[in-house]
Amino acid sequence: MSTLDDVGLTDSPFSDFLGFELLLDEEDRELLSRVRAFTTREIEPIINDYWTRAEFPHQLVEGLAELGIAGLAYDGPGCPNRGALVDGMVAMELGRIDPSIATFMGVHGGLAMGSINLCGSDEQRERWLPAMARMELIGAFGLTEPDVGSAISAGLATSARRDGDDWILNGEKKWIGNAAFADLVVIWARDEADGQVKGFVVEKDTNGMTFDKQEDKIALRVVQNAEIHLHDVRVPEANRLQKAESFRSTADVLRVTRMGVAWQAAGCARGAFEHALRYTKAREQFGRPIASFQLVQDLLVKMLGNVTASTAMNVRASQLQDAGLLRDEHASLCKVHATVRMREAVGWAREVLGGNGILLEHHVGRFVADAEAIYSYEGTREINTLIVGRAITGESAFV
Ligand SMILES: Cc1cc2nc3c(=O)[nH]c(=O)nc-3n(C[C@H](O)[C@H](O)[C@H](O)COP(=O)(O)OP(=O)(O)OC[C@H]3O[C@@H](n4cnc5c(N)ncnc54)[C@H](O)[C@@H]3O)c2cc1C
Repeated sequence: MSTLDDVGLTDSPFSDFLGFELLLDEEDRELLSRVRAFTTREIEPIINDYWTRAEFPHQLVEGLAELGIAGLAYDGPGCPNRGALVDGMVAMELGRIDPSIATFMGVHGGLAMGSINLCGSDEQRERWLPAMARMELIGAFGLTEPDVGSAISAGLATSARRDGDDWILNGEKKWIGNAAFADLVVIWARDEADGQVKGFVVEKDTNGMTFDKQEDKIALRVVQNAEIHLHDVRVPEANRLQKAESFRSTADVLRVTRMGVAWQAAGCARGAFEHALRYTKAREQFGRPIASFQLVQDLLVKMLGNVTASTAMNVRASQLQDAGLLRDEHASLCKVHATVRMREAVGWAREVLGGNGILLEHHVGRFVADAEAIYSYEGTREINTLIVGRAITGESAFV
């Protein structure tokens, strides 16, 4: 009888328990394998140090660019156009080694590139996407504000006023990943004239746009989040995303990127599980490896069940995305499920490491902390639950 190892899943056979990678073609599996080699060799050994110092390892950008994974699923100019399934599996792979780097790529390649790909004109897509896919330009996505997060669709207060061939932006943004070093930030602002939310590509060093790095985070410390202050920022009409006419356009971007977060969450749980399994085989108590204790195996199996169930849901939703059938409620259900199961799994991983579970050197502690941010961003559990609840009942329970 052949095993999953026999058919080529030798890279991480035990955590891809049901062999989901076999759904990919040869070329996509080879890409995943290169991502795995890069993250294991270049990211894992250094990431705890950067996490402690809350700094971003800029030297990794060149290697990430060479992998060709920025905007992997998008079909815009210069984009790889490789489909949602492999894009999701790459996000899981990044999350499995480090959720901060997965988030950095999710913001740049998912949110920022996605906004331009979905909402930009042909000329705008030509202008920015090829350089972003090569990671010569790094993007950020500015939607959330200090006073409004979950209620952003109705409450977004950053304003945009037309002035001849330009727009004038005023307002505040909070939590914006990559913002402090990004070459361009997609800013979502409300048009004073028609009250609709529109998207603007604001380039680095534009007068009136300043940043304050958010300090002392207890999660995703490598991700450089910033508050953005917009004071009479003048942006040409040529930088207004021409197809973004209302918040519906923003939601179209978020539907796709929310799937990316569901995949990151599965990756975060998977990484913690793998560290936990290795540890329990090596650690001995009462003269035996702790992996031989029934209560420890119970937690290991529950972790694997969570990882496998989340992956299965994500696989199906990504297949729907590739078929053009993904709906908001599909992505929301996957995000809710994967993040709740991730939070359980990283807790169990920490538990089986005992005291060592809170030491960064064993990695699991970082996954526990990072899971808290993944749990809340791109729509909290409550908000995504309400999206699914509305879809299945026909009743909106938002207010
Ligand atoms: C690390 C990190 C990175 C981020 N990166 C970005 C980024 O790059 N760009 C960006 O634009 N944003 C970013 N965000 C913002 C993120 O999307 C928001 O944090 C998220 O949408 C939640 O908003 P909030 O934090 O303001 O919480 P709030 O909206 O204040 O919610 C607080 C609590 O109230 C609950 N709640 C709110 N409304 C309801 C309701 N109707 N019913 C029941 N419960 C409700 C929420 O579920 C939550 O539990 C990031 C956040 C984090 C933590």
